[in-house]
Amino acid sequence: MTFETLDVPPQSVEVLRRSLDRGRLAHAWLLTGARLEPLTGLARALAAALMCQQPPRTGASGLPLDACGQCAACRLVAADEHPDVHWLRPESKMRQIRVEQLRGLMREFQMKSRAGGWKVAVLVGADRMNANAANAFLKTLEEPPPRSVLLLLSTEPDRLLETIRSRCLRLDLGSEEGPVLDEAQRAWLAEFAQAAGAAEDDLMARYRLLERLLAELRNIKEQVREELEAASPLAHHRGGEDVEPELREQWEKELVAAVEGEYRHRRSRFLDALVWWLRDIWLATLDMPEPLWAVPELKEATRRVAARLSPEQARQNLEGFQETLRLLHTNIPEAFNLEVGLLNLHL
Ligand SMILES: [Zn+2]
Repeated sequence: MTFETLDVPPQSVEVLRRSLDRGRLAHAWLLTGARLEPLTGLARALAAALMCQQPPRTGASGLPLDACGQCAACRLVAADEHPDVHWLRPESKMRQIRVEQLRGLMREFQMKSRAGGWKVAVLVGADRMNANAANAFLKTLEEPPPRSVLLLLSTEPDRLLETIRSRCLRLDLGSEEGPVLDEAQRAWLAEFAQAAGAAEDDLMARYRLLERLLAELRNIKEQVREELEAASPLAHHRGGEDVEPELREQWEKELVAAVEGEYRHRRSRFLDALVWWLRDIWLATLDMPEPLWAVPELKEATRRVAARLSPEQARQNLEGFQETLRLLHTNIPEAFNLEVGLLNLHL
């Protein structure tokens, strides 16, 4: 089982290989796609490369770029029997990953590698972790042992806890969709990227970026309010004047809740676009070819920012901003949270 023999989109192999080449292999990856087989194949090939005793090629960082597919270690990985590659699959009737299973795996995973090298844990169907298991898993995800890689495979990544998703680098083998953006949002992102890529980067420039972001969020909220007000029963009863006060109050409450819910939904979609762009910057610092970028039309701004950053800084941006998005689901005020998130970006 080697990268060469895999039947997966070549871009996904390329992303892993470049990370190996640069010695910047993330601790945790979320591999997603329509079917589990290609995901397990890719996980196994990466594990084999890390375990292989005679890798055919090594990168600039000294890490292997592929497995030989023939040595004893490679054969053990192919048979899922390598002592440093741990596989976890949903068990029980409910097809769940239970907390006991997970604790067992994590105990093994924290121990020293048997062969003195890397350790890999693969969670097949990671979205099947029940809540207890997910919480137990978070600890390992936050403090992974050195020279270790966690691979989460999922066909339904939306079922994973946001706290888990945001701590993994996602690699999608399905249709690499890219951001879902309408024309206006694309235009907004282009302007934002342009401003962020501009040469001066002082505190004033940063606050101007923040103002752009907050202004667009106000637009989105206003739009949602208008749409939902027009659809509310209040609109057909003269603002509720001709119905019982209780009913009117109920409609008003429902409207407020609906606006908030829809706004949060559209805000996530909108801010996801920024995450895609930060991901492009990271890929650019790794010299990934442009077709892998999610928003190639921003390539000039992407390159400008990437040229100023190390891959490590670009990765911190991505992780930091994902954390900011996670905090939007807590009771931290939105504007404050975004301010911190934006000021902490390396640009
Ligand atoms: Zn080998």
